[in-house]
Amino acid sequence: MTEAPRSVRVDLLGGDPLGRGDRPALSWWLPRGAVRQDAYRIVTDDGFDSGRLPTDAQSYVEVPVFDRSRRRTAARVQVWTDAGESAWSDPVELDSGLLDESDWSARWIGVGEGERPPKGERPAYWLRATFEADVDTEALLHVTALGLYEVQLNGARVGDVELAPGYTQYSARVQYQSYDVGALVHPGTNVLAVLLADGWYRGQVGTPRAADQFGASTALRLQLESPDGVLASTDASWRTAPSHVLAADLIGGQHEDRRLVDPRIHDAVYDDTGWRPAVLREPDVAVVRSAAPPVRRVGALRPVTVTRLADGASIVDLGQNINGWVRLRDLGPAGTTVTLRHGEHLDATGDLTTAHLDVNIPIMPPMPLGQVDSVVSAGLDGDVFEPRLTTHGFQYVRVEGHPGQLGPDDVTGVVVHSDLRRTGWFACSDERLNQLHEAVVWSLRDNVCDIPTDCPQRERAGWTGDWQVFASTAARLYDVAGFSRKWLRDVALVQRADGCVANHAPSIPVEGFDGPMAGLQGSAGWGDAVVSVPWDLYQATGDLSLLRETWSSASAWVDYAAARAAGGRHPSRVAASPEPAPHETYLWDTGFHWGEWLEPGFEVTDFGAFVSADKSEVATAYLHRSAAQLAEIGELVGAGAEAVARYRKVASGARDAWRAEFLDDEGRLLVQTQASHVRALAFGLVPYELRPSVATRLAALVAEAGDHLTTGFLSTGLLLPTLADTGHLDAAYAVLMQDSEPSWLTMIDRGATTVWERWNGVDRAGVPYESLNHYSKGTVASFLHGYVAGLDATAPGYRTFGVRPRPGGGLTWAEVRHDSPFGPIEVAWRTEGPTFHVEVEVPSGTRADVVLPDGSAHEAGPGRHAFASVG
Ligand code: BGC
Repeated sequence: MTEAPRSVRVDLLGGDPLGRGDRPALSWWLPRGAVRQDAYRIVTDDGFDSGRLPTDAQSYVEVPVFDRSRRRTAARVQVWTDAGESAWSDPVELDSGLLDESDWSARWIGVGEGERPPKGERPAYWLRATFEADVDTEALLHVTALGLYEVQLNGARVGDVELAPGYTQYSARVQYQSYDVGALVHPGTNVLAVLLADGWYRGQVGTPRAADQFGASTALRLQLESPDGVLASTDASWRTAPSHVLAADLIGGQHEDRRLVDPRIHDAVYDDTGWRPAVLREPDVAVVRSAAPPVRRVGALRPVTVTRLADGASIVDLGQNINGWVRLRDLGPAGTTVTLRHGEHLDATGDLTTAHLDVNIPIMPPMPLGQVDSVVSAGLDGDVFEPRLTTHGFQYVRVEGHPGQLGPDDVTGVVVHSDLRRTGWFACSDERLNQLHEAVVWSLRDNVCDIPTDCPQRERAGWTGDWQVFASTAARLYDVAGFSRKWLRDVALVQRADGCVANHAPSIPVEGFDGPMAGLQGSAGWGDAVVSVPWDLYQATGDLSLLRETWSSASAWVDYAAARAAGGRHPSRVAASPEPAPHETYLWDTGFHWGEWLEPGFEVTDFGAFVSADKSEVATAYLHRSAAQLAEIGELVGAGAEAVARYRKVASGARDAWRAEFLDDEGRLLVQTQASHVRALAFGLVPYELRPSVATRLAALVAEAGDHLTTGFLSTGLLLPTLADTGHLDAAYAVLMQDSEPSWLTMIDRGATTVWERWNGVDRAGVPYESLNHYSKGTVASFLHGYVAGLDATAPGYRTFGVRPRPGGGLTWAEVRHDSPFGPIEVAWRTEGPTFHVEVEVPSGTRADVVLPDGSAHEAGPGRHAFASVG
């Protein structure tokens, strides 16, 4: 008998020890020394037994135990490998929770507010009730809100989830969380007190900072269950009152008067005469478990400096741009008001500047950034201000009104984001590249706040294009499978009946299909997220279930795009020739598209012209790529020969249309940008025989730009891999190591700790432009992992992988680690004089194909291997 399978996990659940997701899918690593799995068996405590199943499947194995509500059990795994039969694994807990609306006896309740305060100035309310318990009991608390909730049970905070219940398309679904609270319930009278704030539901969201986007009234639903039944639940008997949180808004910030904190509300006997009865509400919304790990406080940073300004305010520098908030202690004598302004840049005088983050777009009134918290001190020793009903993107805090000498011990930067499991690391001999990689990791961390956001400080929206560009890079660094699944459900929910994909998910009315920006939805490169994100995650995880789940939304999008290509012509083309050429059936030259977006120097000067421009060079390329990916997905999910053939036809039709329009008779590209060449090569648009000349032209364009990139949002991540794949590794390294603007290293040299939105995010004079925390350009991390260190999956989920370091740029060593579904993979290379050494760790159940720089090839099975080549 061998040792047990290792690292058995319920997938998608981050740090939650209980299987509190919505899918009991188990993954494990094989016992050490095993080469391959021949069979597995899973049993649960309550009688499920898979029997011995002869298969090598060892990740994302679904256990059919979520067949009924409240099923709580533990699962164990045994495997048979070439090394023999294994011992049973440790148990992992699974908990199906409440699967049906009928499982909830709790009512939705809210606060009778009278006149609703203006946006940004709305308080958090207490909702309070008592309940009796006879004996110490197991107890599970299920809770959700339209808004944000924080539960206190007998004065103790329940759980460690922040910004709960998270952000979903509340017009259709809202998540609930479940917490074990047996240890907090005592015999006799118990007190539940819940803080309820606006959050994404009713607070300011999106570019227009619009409020009330999902409803005008917040609501709470809570159900506390023991094995014998419901102990407490929300109903009309609950009482409500405004709290010490005078205002709580995700964009605006949080304002507290600590003098109003009343610990007696947590006492069993409390005079609530001033309180008002709760109001029953009937929202039409499904209550669901999340597929994603929740948001938590995942780190704490001590300021690197605290500097006093001439006006008495202090500037706190965390040394790192984060998402979250600060914890402030020493609040001063009672009545002192301390104000905290958060931002990501200092001006030449050393003071905070946030003007680059204000919203200044022609069709809206100018709006300042927000991110301002304040606290009025109660003068209590040890009292702390920690605004948990808001969140900010920031590195610097301007602290105003603090009466004492503020020091680094008084302020803590609290890092807040989805509690994802880290899966990828990289290091090399060049310190600036390591800093760049670290900045990419931080931009990812700062933009996973239950949804993938474009930036954590300005509109914080779930832009489809941003995750389309970045998901494959993200998947190298963190386990984003459940996180993406959760988001893709909202993308599909807001998709229009004709298949058009909205710009964002969740989508708010003022920015979606029903508002003034309806015409800006459905952009190529953005909507394609519904195809490429599941596809990229399948490559990273090998889990087919996401492809199955997203098939209908992905195919609806491609059908939509194909219909738009076939169904209209751009006015400029009509003017040039009244009759369409045959290839135009697949030329997507209608509708609005963001296009390559943000190439260096890009500005929208004439919005109308930008909106109506012909972007068929980009859109047709994406139609080709998505249709081609969809055909492959169709094969994998068994969509049928007809569907697969149809998408193949769209793919080749779009490719031919692109060639007809954008290649000249000499085989040159008509659009002479780097982006156009990169896309043409990366998407397989140019005929095979033209690839070398197009690639040479791309390398020449890079050289003509003085070894600078000129790509924007969509093709930046494809540039270096494309150069390397087409024989221009030197050009790729020249761009990677470039340190004059525009370049990645310019960001590092100008102090970036996260990746900028624009190539000139901070100009030579130190002036910032737009967001300094956008992960989209962080796709360069894929080049560091996949080319510099040389690790790439060659079969979905890394069941086989390639190890092909491509040294250059003067580097003398590089290493990458990726915790694949099968276990940790490590690649480390170094040069010693003329000798090139590589060490590779190959997990059980996988195989590596190793190619050294001298071209020699080796196959490597599970275990640790060393290879060397000379010259
Ligand atoms: C966002 C982007 C987004 C874009 C659309 C910007 O305001 O920050 O990242 O994808 O608009 O082009």
